[in-house]
Amino acid sequence: MSLRPAILDPLFAPATSLPGVGPKIAPLLDRLLGEPGRPARVLDLLFHLPTGGVDRALRGSIAEAPIGEQVTLLVTVTDHQPGPLSRSKAPYRVVVEDGTGDIALVFFNMPRARIQNLLPIGAQRVISGKIEMWDGRRQMVHPDRVLDEAAAAALPSVEPVYGQTEGLTSRLIARYVGVALERTPALPEWQDAAWLARNRWPAFRDALTGLHRPAEPGEISGETAEKNPARRRLAYDEIFASQLALALVRARMRRKPGRTNAGDGRLVEALKSALPFPLTGAQERAVAEIRDDMVSDKRMLRLLQGDVGSGKTVVGLLAMASAVEAGRQAAMMAPTEILARQHFERLKPMVEALGLTIALTTGRDRATERRAVIAGLENGSINIVVGTHALFQEGVVFRDLGLAVVDEQHRFGVHQRLALGDKGEAVDVLVMTATPIPRTLALAHFGDMDISILDEKPAGRQPIATKLISVERLDEVVAGIGRAVARGALVYWVCPLVGESENIDLAAAEERAETLRQVFGDAVGLVHGKMPGREKDAAMERFIAGETKILVSTTVIEVGVDVARATVMVIEHAERFGLAQLHQLRGRIGRGADASTCLLLYKGPLGETAKARLEMMRETEDGFRIAEEDLRLRGEGEMLGSRQSGTPGFRLARLETDGDLLTVARDEARLILERDAELVSERGAALRVLLYLFERDAGVKLLRAG
Ligand code: ADP
Ligand code: MG
Repeated sequence: MSLRPAILDPLFAPATSLPGVGPKIAPLLDRLLGEPGRPARVLDLLFHLPTGGVDRALRGSIAEAPIGEQVTLLVTVTDHQPGPLSRSKAPYRVVVEDGTGDIALVFFNMPRARIQNLLPIGAQRVISGKIEMWDGRRQMVHPDRVLDEAAAAALPSVEPVYGQTEGLTSRLIARYVGVALERTPALPEWQDAAWLARNRWPAFRDALTGLHRPAEPGEISGETAEKNPARRRLAYDEIFASQLALALVRARMRRKPGRTNAGDGRLVEALKSALPFPLTGAQERAVAEIRDDMVSDKRMLRLLQGDVGSGKTVVGLLAMASAVEAGRQAAMMAPTEILARQHFERLKPMVEALGLTIALTTGRDRATERRAVIAGLENGSINIVVGTHALFQEGVVFRDLGLAVVDEQHRFGVHQRLALGDKGEAVDVLVMTATPIPRTLALAHFGDMDISILDEKPAGRQPIATKLISVERLDEVVAGIGRAVARGALVYWVCPLVGESENIDLAAAEERAETLRQVFGDAVGLVHGKMPGREKDAAMERFIAGETKILVSTTVIEVGVDVARATVMVIEHAERFGLAQLHQLRGRIGRGADASTCLLLYKGPLGETAKARLEMMRETEDGFRIAEEDLRLRGEGEMLGSRQSGTPGFRLARLETDGDLLTVARDEARLILERDAELVSERGAALRVLLYLFERDAGVKLLRAG
């Protein structure tokens, strides 16, 4: 049984419930607006906003009508000039005039009878189209509207233009949208009246109607459209629904009271003084923020956001030490085998020096190993465990998990995030992400998760020199690599991302490894995503140990790998990578005290955007700047790996223009849940309608489940 308020039923009805949408049209609408397994609904039509409008307002005269722009004129038909019958391809010309001059309407391949019917001599007509110059004369070829005055009066002064699909014209879509609008009920107001008034925002239904029936084209296209109160209102509704849903999830996670998850600080201090380096100011700050959360009996839900190489792992380790101090266990989850193993190797000596036990578990454990780890976690003899998602499978039971640290957050979905919290009682959650998510995007996806930012790199890091080189100069690059290797450098060589299939990527990497072997022999290693895990590790280990000096790879090294001696990176076909991805890749070098070089090989000629993007990489190492720029150049979609245009998860809001509404929505959502946690007040009921309207109703289910 759906809990959806009945008032929304007409909107969630299939588009076929609208008059005029028959078996021929329905599949077209589904293709345009449906999703796999879900036909287009009335709601989808309503949210399919026009991308622009054609001005049909009668203004001006024939004499003054501008060339090349849409004009609508009131004219009288004065003459017909059919082409000679012998030349059937010749155009049929109809001369029309107003008080200021005349102009020819030109028709090709149109039955004569139809033209004569449409434009009888002496008749008054409203025509709409573009005037062009031909052979020194002004003419209008195939006017897109020819109407008598009565029909013209019924035409909206701005005709909306919709994204269309084959067989389904903008005009047809407009007709169905019109019917859909008539079926849209007035919904209870879910926004605060004062806030609406202050912004001069219309009611939901009025906003929707206004966008589909604009009075000026500028209301729905161009920069003025961004500020249109109707559009802003709907964007805010959508953003607000998502923030409210996130706040509901968070409220549930916090409903069970937390426990104090930090002891006297003894272990943390011991760990700190055993580190071979002092913490950066940013690390100190993050450690303190995390500790405050853990000491308090509120559950922690914190995002640790830090650029590559900013030193997140050690912050995570110190947090885990706090949990162990409090007599509980801690877990760190990494997205790949390589990373889990690397974290484990790093942490093991430090953790064991404190007399604690640490274990590793991945999908590749032998059964006996895995049983031992599972037993150790259950009886509490293991204090800290590092692993892949294997950690959170059923069957893994902790004696008392106090903290879950998730590394490289963006690879995990919401479900996995929630699954963590369920592995123990009042588990604190710390997610670490190296993807420099712009503030607005973080807010949109994580809601009011608390955020700690590492905005400072460890001291002594050398800047990375980044160079753009045409692939035609490959020989020079190879020679340069040879010199670097002779000086003792280790080199990453990243192969092109072809995208279509991993097999093609792989072939390219294998081929490159082969050509490099002809020069460097056994010093060349290869690692790629299709390798069995153990081989992958072995290849990485040989590289870390310096047995191989040049590691050719597909993008599997993207995340987290830390080899201080690696100071050169070559990225082939850099123009095919996203900026954020290039930044992640480049972050694998520049980790030690030696200067590093990144060579971005491209295949020219480069387009304007591609060039701007690569130059951005050369100019800065600031991940936040790069991410903001990436956002601007490509839209947010691709940053998160989805190729949809616009903002993932949003239909109406666009973070580039509506990002400012996020914090307002978050604060408002928080406030509302403080006052009305179960959404039972009158406004609460209206807000439930909003959640269903934007299909964020998962949050409502949480309410019901209590
Ligand atoms: P990331 O944030 O990319 O996960 P890591 O945690 O892997 O970064 O740290 C990168 C490298 O910097 C590691 O070798 C780590 O030991 C080192 N490191 C971390 N913090 C500091 C510091 N305060 N001073 C010097 N080196 C540090
Ligand atoms: Mg890391």
